[in-house]
Amino acid sequence: MNQTARKISDNYRRAVDRVADAAVNANRDPQSVTIVGVTKYVEPELAEALFQAGCHHLGESRPQVLLAKQEALSDLPIHWHMIGHLQRNKVKRAISNLALVHSLDSIRLAEAIDAAANEQGLTVPVLLEVNISGDDAKHGFQPGELSGQANELQQYKHLRVQGLMGMAGLSADESNVRSQFRMLRELRDSLNEVHPMEAGWSELSMGMSGDFELAIAEGATLVRIGSMLFEGVL
Ligand SMILES: *Cc1c(COP(=O)(O)O)cnc(C)c1O
Repeated sequence: MNQTARKISDNYRRAVDRVADAAVNANRDPQSVTIVGVTKYVEPELAEALFQAGCHHLGESRPQVLLAKQEALSDLPIHWHMIGHLQRNKVKRAISNLALVHSLDSIRLAEAIDAAANEQGLTVPVLLEVNISGDDAKHGFQPGELSGQANELQQYKHLRVQGLMGMAGLSADESNVRSQFRMLRELRDSLNEVHPMEAGWSELSMGMSGDFELAIAEGATLVRIGSMLFEGVL
C-alpha cells in the first residue's frame, strides 16, 4: 500500500471509530449508521483507495463527475450515492446505477426521475432534501411544505421515498446545528405517521465532517463524510 492509500485508510478507520462512539453515546447500534464517503474532492484512484479501505458507499455531488467515476471504477461493487443538486437534463444518464439519491429537492425533479426510471425499467430510491437551515441559497423543500409535497409524490410509482436529507447552516453554532438536525428527525417522524410510505421513512441523511456526531445523536442513519477522509492527502 502506498503512503496516500495508507493515510486514507487511517482516516477512514478514525471516522468509523468516531461514528461508532457517537452511536454508542446515543444508545444506538453502530451498525445503524452508514458512512457515505464523499469523493468529490479526489480523482478516481483515491476514491478507489477509500473503497479498498472498506468504505463501500461513495457519494458525489455532480452528475458529470459521478458518471466519470462510475466509469473509471466500474469493476468495483461500489454503492453510489448522488448527494448534490441534480438538474433535470442530467437525470436520464445519472440514475442508472445509484444506490440512493439524497437530493430530491422539487416536484419537477421527482417527475423527471420518475419518467426516466419508467423508461429504463428502474425504481429509484430517493430521500427528500429539506432546507433545514433556512438559508435561501440552499436547495430543498421548505419544512412547512413537506407534508403536502409528500402527498403529491405518492403518484410517482418509480420513486421509492426512504427518508429525508438535510444540511445544517454553515454559520450555525453547535446547539443551532443540533436543533436543525432534530427538526429533520421530527419532520421524518411526523411524515411517517401522516404519509406512510411503502419503503418506510427509515433513512435520515445528515451530518458531514464537521458535525456528524451531532447528527448521529439526533438519529442520522447516513452520514456524508468527505474532507475528513482525505485529510493529509489533498
Ligand atoms: C461535500 C459534501 C459533503 C461532505 O462534506 P465534508 O465537510 O467535506 O465532509 C456532504 N454533503 C454534501 C451534500 C456535500 O456536497
